[in-house]
Amino acid sequence: MSLKFKMLAALGFALSATLISACGPDGSASKQTPTAVTVAGQTMGTFYNITIPGDYPGGSAQLKQDAEAQFAQVIDAISTFDKQSEISRFNQRKNSEPMQVSTYLAHVIEEVNRQSLRIGGATEISIGPLVNLWGFGTDGRPNKVPTEQQIQAAHNYVGMDKYAVRYIGGVAFLEKRDPRVQLDLSTVGEGLGADLVANYLDSKHIGNYLVSIAGAIRTKGLNPSGKPWRVGIVNPVNPDGQPFAVVCPHQEAMSTAGSYRNYFVDKATGKRYSHIIDPQTGHPIDHHTVSVTVIGRNALVTDALDTGLMVLGADKALAWGDAQETPIYVIEMQDGKPVGRYNRYFEKYLKCDTQAAE
Ligand code: ADP
Ligand code: MG
Repeated sequence: MSLKFKMLAALGFALSATLISACGPDGSASKQTPTAVTVAGQTMGTFYNITIPGDYPGGSAQLKQDAEAQFAQVIDAISTFDKQSEISRFNQRKNSEPMQVSTYLAHVIEEVNRQSLRIGGATEISIGPLVNLWGFGTDGRPNKVPTEQQIQAAHNYVGMDKYAVRYIGGVAFLEKRDPRVQLDLSTVGEGLGADLVANYLDSKHIGNYLVSIAGAIRTKGLNPSGKPWRVGIVNPVNPDGQPFAVVCPHQEAMSTAGSYRNYFVDKATGKRYSHIIDPQTGHPIDHHTVSVTVIGRNALVTDALDTGLMVLGADKALAWGDAQETPIYVIEMQDGKPVGRYNRYFEKYLKCDTQAAE
């Protein structure tokens, strides 16, 4: 996904979640310098950070190697930039013959769709033809906004009914109902990577960690100062500045989707087009919600939900979170200024000082 990385770097890309874990509960730097093993690098077209208080067997070089081995699994399954990945090989097929795939990929697709159905299908992984048409795929930016006719043509093969996961004798298969179907799981790549690294660290009995890949975060235990991990939600109008809000995800996963980093501007009209596309209309979202953060049991779940909740917009996202008892934090533009709103399930994650350590 290096192409995506170059694009994001050129836009002055910043993480949706800023790491501020080395701060004390009042935001001040802690007095002692606590020890920790940290690794920062690039994967899947974006940046990752891992912090483990104390030691890690083999140190940061080993941690980097272990993490990248996990990321490789995600890339092998879902990268659209790697032409040999399972999803790329599936997308290249011009027929409806079932293709044998890993149970990992099959389970990921099923889980994303399960989450998507909870929000009316707003996260739609067969969105690929529309993503390419609007210039957010591997082909780069279009010169001009697609015509309504082109949008409708691509829209005809977008939908959960256009492909299927099947198991035959315990072996997973993926099939297209239309040869033009193109799956795009890039919206959950970060969450998948964070989950695999977190699961790997769990298997090694590491009791305290923070894993972040762009906007997807997994935390466990406490930070190097013995306090709850603190992460920031990026300010959409100043992504490199101070975080917009400080969150303690506690032992849960958190992810943020935003429309402020990846977009193109139509030269003719000056209008901005976001990389998040409404599967119902076939058009990029066009409302004032610029960021949605979700907290949940793992980063695949939160990453699958945040994109669709961005499609729904702030009011529906918050109402859905209330009905489902799911913590949601949104940022909307009001009179040119970003305004944060959150539901009552999110409240406790904003009170870092009062969180009890587990
Ligand atoms: P964010 O910047 O919000 O973290 P991601 O990069 O995780 O976003 O996901 C955005 C990508 O997901 C888009 O570039 C596109 O490939 C894909 N996408 C766009 N709209 C949808 C949608 N409605 N459902 C699923 N995937 C989408
Ligand atoms: Mg997402």
